[in-house]
Amino acid sequence: MARAAQAVINLAAIEHNFKLAQSLAPTAKAMAIVKADAYGHGAVAVAKKLEGTADAFGVACIEEAVELREAGIKAPVLLLEGFFSADELPLIAEMGFWTALHSVHQVEMIRDAKLAKPIHVWPKIDSGMHRLGLNAQEAVEVYHQLSAMACVEKIVMMSHMACADELDNPMSQQQIAFFDSAVSGLGVEHSLANSPSILSLENARRDWMRCGLMIYGATPFPQAHPVADKLKPAMSFTTEVIAIREVPEGECVGYAASFKCDKVRKIGTIAIGYADGYDRHIGNGSPILVNGQRTIVAGRVSMDMVTVDLTDIEGAQLGSLVELWGENLSVCEVAEAASTIPYTLFTGVSKRVPRKYINR
Ligand SMILES: *Cc1c(COP(=O)(O)O)cnc(C)c1O
Repeated sequence: MARAAQAVINLAAIEHNFKLAQSLAPTAKAMAIVKADAYGHGAVAVAKKLEGTADAFGVACIEEAVELREAGIKAPVLLLEGFFSADELPLIAEMGFWTALHSVHQVEMIRDAKLAKPIHVWPKIDSGMHRLGLNAQEAVEVYHQLSAMACVEKIVMMSHMACADELDNPMSQQQIAFFDSAVSGLGVEHSLANSPSILSLENARRDWMRCGLMIYGATPFPQAHPVADKLKPAMSFTTEVIAIREVPEGECVGYAASFKCDKVRKIGTIAIGYADGYDRHIGNGSPILVNGQRTIVAGRVSMDMVTVDLTDIEGAQLGSLVELWGENLSVCEVAEAASTIPYTLFTGVSKRVPRKYINR
């Protein structure tokens, strides 16, 4: 018997969620963002499932793009953070990757690269997030410079939204207005929308939607949302109970003795820990499912084990199934209990956890 911790990935749910994104703007093209190993879901498996449905894939860097090509993925792959040094450009051209471009000095790099095949370039405009991108004047200049280059086949102007997960934040429309004014008259394709924008900002969907978190079935919003609530969770992070003990009233459980038994309690130990990506900030009292019933984490998360309260759980025994998050316990709820976001929980699921793929 092997350690039971695993992440069950439902590829059919990912396809459902991607098609939900597409249905919101049927004439737009939709990119599936599979950076960071598809937010922990397995980039190759997700890309294989969506190839033919997705118009392109998005990754953070060339290493992630090469992984897809080596696995046989032929669809376009966009490097969302662009290239970091000029020596990546020949490979970008050869493997047919598309690249973001966020700084004027990168235009020279492309011009000087003497590429054998023309590339697609996505200049990124800083529309207010102030993390990466060109200002409005640079964007127009870069557009005209790239347009004149034989080694540039296509240009898509992009930007990134800072606050779209806050439904009434006026910054989103300010960013869109800034972008529109910067690109006005260029007659070029646009890409603005990440998951929260795809779900909630009709005028951000444009020519290319960049679908990340939502395809993994987690809502980016803290509140209920009519479309986001149709997403299906794709990852069920599960393990089993490996030990059970009765702990007397007044005794404490785990490191720092942070869970004190107010009466005799039945404490279960489960095979998962922060080294698996069950974040240590998922503290005492956080929700967890045992045998399909809700209970709480009792005490601190250890590296390889977690203790949970089984006192009121019917039928709890050695081998009982534990769901850390997934189909029956929202990753968003667990993230909130840990003062974090589903993105960090998903990307934190470590290499030690085997991924098991299902389609239903
Ligand atoms: C990661 C990323 C996305 C996807 O964002 P989600 O909120 O996960 O949908 C979109 N665009 C860029 C540039 C990104 O880096």
